[in-house]
Amino acid sequence: MSTLYSALPSMNILLQNIAPECQNIPRTIQKKAMESLLITLRNDINNSTISSIQELNKKLETENLVRFCSTYAKPHFTRIINATGVILHTNAGRALLSENAIEAVIKACAFYSNLELNLNTGTRGSRYSHVEELLCDITGAESAIVVNNNAAAVLLFLDSLCAGGEVIVSRGQLVEIGGSFRIPDVMQRSGALLKEVGTTNRTHIHDYENAICENTRALLKVHTSNFKVIGFTHTVSTEDLVTLGKKYNIPVLEDVGSGSLYSLTKYGFSYEPTVQELISAGADIVSFSGDKVLGGPQAGIIVGKKCYIDIIKKNQLTRALRIDKMTLAALEATLSLYLDEETLLEKNPTLAMLTIPLTALQEKAESLLHLLTPIFDSIATLSCITGNSRVGGGSFPEENLPTVLLAIHCNSVDITLFSKILLQTSTPVLTRIEHNVLLLDVRTIQKEEFTLLVSSMQEAIALQ
Ligand SMILES: *Cc1c(COP(=O)(O)O)cnc(C)c1O
Repeated sequence: MSTLYSALPSMNILLQNIAPECQNIPRTIQKKAMESLLITLRNDINNSTISSIQELNKKLETENLVRFCSTYAKPHFTRIINATGVILHTNAGRALLSENAIEAVIKACAFYSNLELNLNTGTRGSRYSHVEELLCDITGAESAIVVNNNAAAVLLFLDSLCAGGEVIVSRGQLVEIGGSFRIPDVMQRSGALLKEVGTTNRTHIHDYENAICENTRALLKVHTSNFKVIGFTHTVSTEDLVTLGKKYNIPVLEDVGSGSLYSLTKYGFSYEPTVQELISAGADIVSFSGDKVLGGPQAGIIVGKKCYIDIIKKNQLTRALRIDKMTLAALEATLSLYLDEETLLEKNPTLAMLTIPLTALQEKAESLLHLLTPIFDSIATLSCITGNSRVGGGSFPEENLPTVLLAIHCNSVDITLFSKILLQTSTPVLTRIEHNVLLLDVRTIQKEEFTLLVSSMQEAIALQ
């Protein structure tokens, strides 16, 4: 072991070795990279991962040093290929933006804008005005405001309308969304007292009515986004809650989570009321995410009655939760596509991936099969098989979308290890493993990404 330690080269030698090929990387970063490499090598020697001089020399080959340095210098936040088929993958950044939204973002950050400038008067304007009218047009609501995300939207409407009072919620809707967003905790933060009614599987209108008292500030409905209670169940419709709310003069607030502005039932999806339907059913406030089924940037959208939105706009928290200009630009562009349903599905990438026909998936999978088969050669057997994609992002939790998968049966390679190596390539590839088979779901892979995907596969094969 001590021979191995003493065989470790000096910093100067390492830097000399990588200098020609890493000249575009700042010297300080080259040095930090090599320091980090030396620490890794010492650890490897210490725990006998490296146990011979040959193994050490292999690690010290210039090519490997250069690769280490280039990887080290790469930005941490990087593009990946999502081959999981989960369209709204929260870990992979949820919705992809449409072309017009991408252009809007670039303009918003490259140039000055009328973010808070009223061009008619030359005086201060409201940042919310850019999307408020559009949201009202599309949803039929009287008023609207947008914030950082839907978690912020829920916190904000509860804090504005319910602090110090009670909010009645069904026990079956006290949900936790991944990443520790729990309705009861958000409520506590807002200073509203939670009054649970009904049971996990069944809540009736009389459960809500019996819980109403002079302290009741709102009736809250929460979409059970990421799970489904099946069997002997009963939930109260928005219409019935609205009737009850009117009787006692209490607002009905609804967190719909994903919140669709376009009904997908004709594409075989189970029925979910659209935001438009909830507004016309009389909900006083409806909130939803910008980057779930809507297919836009991360944002929390609140639409509803003007008298309530006005109170929300005056809340100091709004300033802390406010949406930034790039998001706002992307949101306006995303929403504007909803004005023309003829072109919406082809222009909004999320809706396009949700509704792509099986024949198109089959075609995509087969062309990928042709590209990848020669690369894997004898290492693996490739085939196209049928399977299911998921919507993700807590939208349509039970929905299985029939898809075509490229299945990679490895003959000699450890598949779990290979899937990890795929995450270490220049363009990392996120895959799925089922029954020891590596699966690539073409639903979430764009044709334009095929070339990159092929290079990543080649890189991974060389690395394993
Ligand atoms: C996803 C979701 C949220 C959180 O929305 P973000 O935009 O991720 O903050 C809140 N409530 C429900 C019901 C959800 O599905």
